[in-house]
Amino acid sequence: MRILLIEDSDRLRELVSEAIRDAGWKIDALPTAELGRSALVDREYDLLLLDLGLPDEDGIDVLKSLRAAKMQMPVLILTARGAIDERIVGLDAGADDYLAKPFHNGELIARIRALMRRAPVTTMPVLEYGAIQMDVASRRVTCASAEISLAPSEKDLLELLMRNGGKVVGKAKIEHAFSEFGDERSSNAVELAVSRLRRKMDGHQTNCSIETIRGVGYMMRQVSD
Ligand code: CA
Repeated sequence: MRILLIEDSDRLRELVSEAIRDAGWKIDALPTAELGRSALVDREYDLLLLDLGLPDEDGIDVLKSLRAAKMQMPVLILTARGAIDERIVGLDAGADDYLAKPFHNGELIARIRALMRRAPVTTMPVLEYGAIQMDVASRRVTCASAEISLAPSEKDLLELLMRNGGKVVGKAKIEHAFSEFGDERSSNAVELAVSRLRRKMDGHQTNCSIETIRGVGYMMRQVSD
């Protein structure tokens, strides 16, 4: 697996490169958007680690043109802690995940592994499960053309369950997905979000349900009528 890192901080480039190599992957680490763009044209990468604050160009623009060119490798953006707007813009522009600086190398490697596992589905612009559709970019959730109005955390939860439809999603994984959005959440918060999501789904003919797998997590399942 070959990873491209576009990051202007020399120190971060070194640290990340070392962690990637230790994980047994290959990495090209480049300091500017221009060098990164030409590398993307010249070589095939399995994943892109993208800093948003680059000296010559906004990382978001690199991401947008990459997606416009139908390059569908997973993209993990690296952002300054607290820059929530930046993260949202990044996800809307087609990033698959983000990591706030400073981050722990162990977390970086774990996120990369997770992205690689779900790579084939991350490229779908609209997720479908049962009768539910979620537009990944706009975050709009619909069922038979009617919008299901959900809070952001409920959308995160639904997306995670839809991407793993028919499979059990561990509670820890859900908590982790939640904490990506900057706030600590207890497993109690996960339970509450699940019950709120279930209630909102109840008002629609979704043809699917969220089952509790006791002691493990949750699973979204299609319901045949
Ligand atoms: Ca930077």
